[in-house]
Amino acid sequence: MHGGGGISGDDALQANCANPIDAAVLADYWLGVLADAEEDAIEEHLFGCDRCGDRLREVVALAGGLCDLARAGSLRMVVSETFLQRAAEEGLQIRQYSPPAGGGVQCTVTAEDDILIGRLTANLKGAKRVDLSVVDERGTEQARLRDIPVNPSAGGVILQESITFAKAAPTNKLLMRLVAVDEAGGERLVGEYTFDHTRSLSGPGA
Ligand SMILES: [Zn+2]
Repeated sequence: MHGGGGISGDDALQANCANPIDAAVLADYWLGVLADAEEDAIEEHLFGCDRCGDRLREVVALAGGLCDLARAGSLRMVVSETFLQRAAEEGLQIRQYSPPAGGGVQCTVTAEDDILIGRLTANLKGAKRVDLSVVDERGTEQARLRDIPVNPSAGGVILQESITFAKAAPTNKLLMRLVAVDEAGGERLVGEYTFDHTRSLSGPGA
């Protein structure tokens, strides 16, 4: 998966989950057939574990689609226009932001929102592998979606942020970076987008 050098301690940690969630459990989670407590535990694990997030995305891809669009909103993932269209048709409330490349946007999420979308405009022509890197205010990478699905002619990526995560988040700033990775593991920044999130929900994260 990784190319040459530059594997940080964090990366090594994330690449080797000490307690990976069983694929069958991930599938059950996706199907929404787990008990609430188990579901909560899995969501909590997924927020902190890129590896299991990757594996869940694989389970979703293998499942051939989305059985539960509302559940789909809880996962940070790249989505398609078709997905958004279907979500809108199902009556889900979609909140979308389109920060300019190299710039930022003020954003929030309300209790009524079901799906949270960032449209990341970028020229992805010629990129063989694209990663999405999520970086906090201190410049620390928090998460990385490796080898995201990219359509070179699409002019960017439609990123869904986990609505569960966003609803729980305090006011904070997150940088989303699209990074082209070459075969040798070299990285090239393709686009950087700042999401300046203001919490507008009451509750524990306020
Ligand atoms: Zn894990």
